[in-house]
Amino acid sequence: MRKLTGAFRLPKLPTSLQETLLHLLLAAVISVSVMAFPLGFIEAPLFDIRQNWSAKKTIDERIAIITIDDQTLNQLSEVSPLPLKYHQRAVEELERQEVRAVGYVMDFNKVQQLDDPGFKSESVQDFYRSTVRLNAQGIPFMLGIPYDMGGEVSAPYPLNQIPQSVAIIHKDGATFGRDKVTRRALVSLYEKMAFEMSLANRIYSNETILNPPGTYKSSEADAQYFLFRLHQKEGRIYDPEYENFAYPRYSFSDLVEGKIPDGTLKDKIVLVGTFQRETPSDFTLINSFQDSTPVPKILIQANILDSILNQQGLREIPAGILTVLCFLLSLVVVIASFRIRPSRLIGLTLVLLAGIALIALLLFQPIPFFGNHWLPLGAPFLSLTLSFYLMIPLRLYSEHRKRFALEKENQVLHEVEELKTNFIQLVTHDLKTPVARIQGLTEQLRRSLGNHLRSEDSDLIEHMLSANHELNNFIGSLLELTKLDSQGLRVSLQSKDVNPLLEAVISKHRFNAGSKKISIETDFEPLFPIRIDAELISKVLSNLIDNAIKYSPENTTVRISTRESGDRVTITIQDQGVGIPESEMPNLFSRFYRVKNDNTYRVKGTGLGLYLSRYFIEAHQGSIEVYSTEGHGTTFTISLPVNLKDQEVNQPGLRFQKPVTKPVGKKENLYA
Ligand code: ADP
Repeated sequence: MRKLTGAFRLPKLPTSLQETLLHLLLAAVISVSVMAFPLGFIEAPLFDIRQNWSAKKTIDERIAIITIDDQTLNQLSEVSPLPLKYHQRAVEELERQEVRAVGYVMDFNKVQQLDDPGFKSESVQDFYRSTVRLNAQGIPFMLGIPYDMGGEVSAPYPLNQIPQSVAIIHKDGATFGRDKVTRRALVSLYEKMAFEMSLANRIYSNETILNPPGTYKSSEADAQYFLFRLHQKEGRIYDPEYENFAYPRYSFSDLVEGKIPDGTLKDKIVLVGTFQRETPSDFTLINSFQDSTPVPKILIQANILDSILNQQGLREIPAGILTVLCFLLSLVVVIASFRIRPSRLIGLTLVLLAGIALIALLLFQPIPFFGNHWLPLGAPFLSLTLSFYLMIPLRLYSEHRKRFALEKENQVLHEVEELKTNFIQLVTHDLKTPVARIQGLTEQLRRSLGNHLRSEDSDLIEHMLSANHELNNFIGSLLELTKLDSQGLRVSLQSKDVNPLLEAVISKHRFNAGSKKISIETDFEPLFPIRIDAELISKVLSNLIDNAIKYSPENTTVRISTRESGDRVTITIQDQGVGIPESEMPNLFSRFYRVKNDNTYRVKGTGLGLYLSRYFIEAHQGSIEVYSTEGHGTTFTISLPVNLKDQEVNQPGLRFQKPVTKPVGKKENLYA
């Protein structure tokens, strides 16, 4: 019967799929948690930076401002709030100037407190009647009234009959930036339009004026807001030093005294409000930076009205899109953290941060279609930073695990290598004695048979001796290698002239060369002695010359030359042999590597000669280069430093570079 337990086991997912799922899960967790985090405190300054760095809209020239300012109080010798008679005069003057509309921001309850007689006289009726007359002429007159704990503070009778709505300059307070900065404007409160919206609607009485773009419902009150845009003229919104406004501004005293030239205010939408230097409530902040100066509220009201009239406002990027963006950013960092070096990951994270900031800045600009968007940056920034800081320890952990596995693997390899070395050592050591005996016994046999040997038998004995000689060489090379592996390389430097060293090596190979009718030509430049280990360098030279003879056909030439250039001596061994195919070059200096070639398969060798040569040369801080053209010949060039110091000898760990390979063209060949 089949066991049931195994039948329901979940299928094991492939590692790559597991990894992908892990990445997606991490990015999702990060982005969702970031979105749930209240980030107003980051958002507010980031909003203000963009506000500072973004181009401003130019002002709507129809708007003008009249301020009840310090000049007004001085000229009229009054204190704030001004008695009613002045307001009465102002409205009459505005009527005379044929303005387009009037937005009158004033708390008439305060006026009444100071000027009770005025409210009992005809003045109040005159004022009221003037506003009615204006409205009757199609010149909207809108009163901006305050709002306190009890709700909107309606103007006293009979002024409460004038069209009026709440004029509040909204400070973000506890809701957005936890600061007193004005970034948004009220559109409506408890279903009733706010002051600037009402005024705009009355100006466009026949057309429907839409809510400004980006209007949103507030979560904390039954209110609607929008992020209004700031307006400038000649690069300025407000100049605190000269109290210059971007919008044309006139003093209230000039208005009531008839000093504003006729026609100046014709068809203007006039906002009237207080602006006294010593009255903090007349000002508000428009960004959160230390050096930001308070800006007159009446100016902000003009900016809000301008934004409404011209349908300008910032649209917030919806939370859904923002979550997807955070998710994608996290995903990039999470995936990259497993694939690239930590230093690159820092770079990538910074680039993403800068990129998203730049995009947000561009989106903020007043560009049609693309622009006028507010992309909250707190969440994307936090997603990136959080992903980065979470992934670093995770990456370290995974790296630690990998290293641990590698170390174990290394240990096993090391043990195998040791076993191999021991084995080779054992075998070669044990082989050396019988091979030497065969050599000795064969030579003895040849001597004792002497002249009795038939010529065929003599050839056989010669072959035996030569085969034995090769075996001996092979064992010698293996022993050398195992010695190097176990004991490292011992280099003892002495001052030696390379030329006599070469002569000695060449003389040992003359016989072999002669038997193949290969001539060895030398071209030695007189040299000073250099610091080398003569035994090791002799082995290298012997191997290269041996190869040059081995891999060359009969009746060719091997040319050996020496040169001194600067602080190096170069030795070149050039043959006219079979050459080495370019594809073989990368492996030429590897252990036991032999070129597989029809021309050379009969040639005996171990594939260790070049490996050891390079080992010895690099121990001398030298280099070995090979240039070859298949079928035409090979040139090996050794370069050795003249003044090698004992402490500069490279041992025992040798670095192996890729050999320099460059096939020599026919013309470059010395013998061509
Ligand atoms: P080997 O004992 O096989 O000669 P080496 O390490 O000395 O081992 O050389 C490695 C291989 O490089 C040789 O098998 C041979 O194919 C090639 N090689 C070395 N020197 C030459 C040369 N002068 N001309 C052509 N091929 C060469």
